[in-house]
Amino acid sequence: MSIGPYLIYLAIIVLIPLWAQLKVKSTYSRYEKIPTSAGMSGAEVARRILDANGLSNVSVVETKGVLSDHYNPMTKTVHLSTANYRKHSVAGAAVAAHEVGHAIQDKEGYAALRFRHALVPVANISSNMAWFFLIIGMIFSTVLSNLMLVGIILLAVGVLFQIVTLPVEFNASSRAMNQIVTLGIISNEEERDARKVLNAAAMTYVAAAAVAVLELLRMILIFTNISRD
Ligand SMILES: [Zn+2]
Repeated sequence: MSIGPYLIYLAIIVLIPLWAQLKVKSTYSRYEKIPTSAGMSGAEVARRILDANGLSNVSVVETKGVLSDHYNPMTKTVHLSTANYRKHSVAGAAVAAHEVGHAIQDKEGYAALRFRHALVPVANISSNMAWFFLIIGMIFSTVLSNLMLVGIILLAVGVLFQIVTLPVEFNASSRAMNQIVTLGIISNEEERDARKVLNAAAMTYVAAAAVAVLELLRMILIFTNISRD
């Protein structure tokens, strides 16, 4: 790849995630300031949805940081960042409901979530090792080009992980929206805003997956060029 197209490519893979990050931050900070008419904190929202779904065994705890919210399937705990845990905002309700969406997926044994969990250890190791093989393979391409192929296979596992994350995230958000609407946690007017917050958050996963796919394709392209020489 010559320098011109490469710079364009580099700009794309840097700008896509950056745009997604800015979008989620601006959307979140807008709706974090808007209180819900029901006046429930994120912690109360999570508890309410958990109990309504027979998940009284799942606990809700406060976690430091901004947007550090997550569900831990090992400890059966919904972690909510301080603002979402305490405040009663549209954004907080949406995020809390989304994390509970993961807890419901866990309870139901949702296939994509199980597959994603199974991939975690493999994906961690393979992502770390992939670049070692790719770089050595590229540097010594005349004798060791097959090492690149090993790197590409390892990289592909990481890409698979990013792609499997997408249905897990979209499904948690759609469960979240169903729950907060049917349980009357947000009003009809607030529904659209809550959806905006969750869609913006989902875009960060789409951006990460898109970049991962592009990187994989670039490596495959380099490998086929090297192999042809
Ligand atoms: Zn999620």
